[in-house]
Amino acid sequence: MKWANLLKDLGQSKDNERLRRQIQRQLNKWQPILGVTISDWELREMKNYWGSANNSTGHIIFNSELAKLPPRYVNYIVLHELVHQITDGHDQKFYALMDQHMPGWRKMQARIEEPLERYS
Ligand SMILES: [Zn+2]
Repeated sequence: MKWANLLKDLGQSKDNERLRRQIQRQLNKWQPILGVTISDWELREMKNYWGSANNSTGHIIFNSELAKLPPRYVNYIVLHELVHQITDGHDQKFYALMDQHMPGWRKMQARIEEPLERYS
């Protein structure tokens, strides 16, 4: 392995470690507030989604690219995915819960560029 690649890998694993800790803190914070419990979660490189939640298994996948976004966006995605443990779609209930717990989320959603339909 070339040094440049090795250093890049080390940098990425450091970023991922920081991201993992932040996600875990946010999960610990929001699960009792929302009254949901997930089974487990993982980081994965994904092309089209910031996060992906399965509310029958309670498993959440977060995009490792989140490491490149400001922390508040990570917090938003964590809450977004946890709300999907309560409701699958982006329905009235979803909007009401997001508005209640994170009033600024719509602006972040708009800035994150992906249309809401593309990340679940
Ligand atoms: Zn969604």
